[in-house]
Amino acid sequence: MLEVTGQHRECQEQLRKRARDLLASGEIAAFIGYGNGSLPWVPRPIVVRSPEEADRLVWNSFLTLNLANYLPGVLKELEPPRRRGEQVDPSTLPRVGIVATGCWSRNIVIQVQENQVDRSRVHIIGISSRGMISRHSFKQALGGKEALKIVENDHEIEVTLSHGETMVLSRWEYVRPNCKTCIHPGPVVSDETIGPPPGRRLVDERFREIEEVEAKDSQGRWEWFEEAFKDCIRCYACRNACPLCYCPTCFVDDSRPQWVGKSIETPDALTFHILRAYHCAGRCTDCGACESVCPVGIPMRLLTKKLIKEAQMLFDWEPGMSLEEAPLLGSFSPDDPDIAILKGGEKGT
Ligand code: SF4
Ligand code: SF4
Ligand code: SF4
Repeated sequence: MLEVTGQHRECQEQLRKRARDLLASGEIAAFIGYGNGSLPWVPRPIVVRSPEEADRLVWNSFLTLNLANYLPGVLKELEPPRRRGEQVDPSTLPRVGIVATGCWSRNIVIQVQENQVDRSRVHIIGISSRGMISRHSFKQALGGKEALKIVENDHEIEVTLSHGETMVLSRWEYVRPNCKTCIHPGPVVSDETIGPPPGRRLVDERFREIEEVEAKDSQGRWEWFEEAFKDCIRCYACRNACPLCYCPTCFVDDSRPQWVGKSIETPDALTFHILRAYHCAGRCTDCGACESVCPVGIPMRLLTKKLIKEAQMLFDWEPGMSLEEAPLLGSFSPDDPDIAILKGGEKGT
């Protein structure tokens, strides 16, 4: 059981009320949020379809998956069957509600930019994130013991363990690094917002983890990469948790051609991670969902974060910030200094 007090309690109550009202009025046919899971510290995404079910929604610091990942599937599922090529007026299709923090809302913007989601069919309730807890650090803090009950207030997390033992953790200490350095904890797009404004963030330290790796020489960087990624078991939980990964056939599953070997040998695992990271270039919002679900603690988010840094430095680009902007890799500037590559000339000419 997970109980919340303070700001999260307030958000949870408002969220339940708004979801209930939207479902009762028929404005939406379903609402995507979080409900309790089988472990108190692992809430799970749920789809609520009736006003009575709205009380199942929860809001706390353990919501580590990115809800945008479920949006295209729920929208699709609500569409009535139609013949191939048959046109449907989108305004006649059922709408879906979703709760979104800063990064989740930025992933929804990307889904709209990439034509995976019709903005007019989505009602977004924005909540500024206070930073989500790292599952890996929390599990470590449990030290193999079972958490029977968690009570979260604005600054502390009280955990009741088996045999009645309790421990109190400082919330901020366990917040994930991507959340601590998040540039946009508040929703960038929403139909309504609830809850207080976002709290402090360590934005100056945004790329500290990357700079530590960059400071190594090329041999050192290679050794870091091999060591950090060699234990990947290719379960693809990271890919499945990512709202950017919606390809009907992922490159890892292709056999003709086979882009990458399917073994868990280090060269195959490293190739998978390099290719996956490049597929997220200019698109990754650093939501941290991929890293949160990895069963063996691979820091794959550092590869995508490096690409965030490059896109920011080279193109002043932050993914998913505006519905009006074209995606970075889907846009073109005649002032680009590398444009001559396209014309077969020399760089900068
Ligand atoms: S890793 Fe690449 S190919 Fe696979 S689902 Fe993600 S974006 Fe698509
Ligand atoms: S690659 Fe990871 S951090 Fe980036 S959007 Fe996907 S799940 Fe989030
Ligand atoms: S990095 Fe982790 S989650 Fe991703 S495929 Fe490897 S073991 Fe699975």
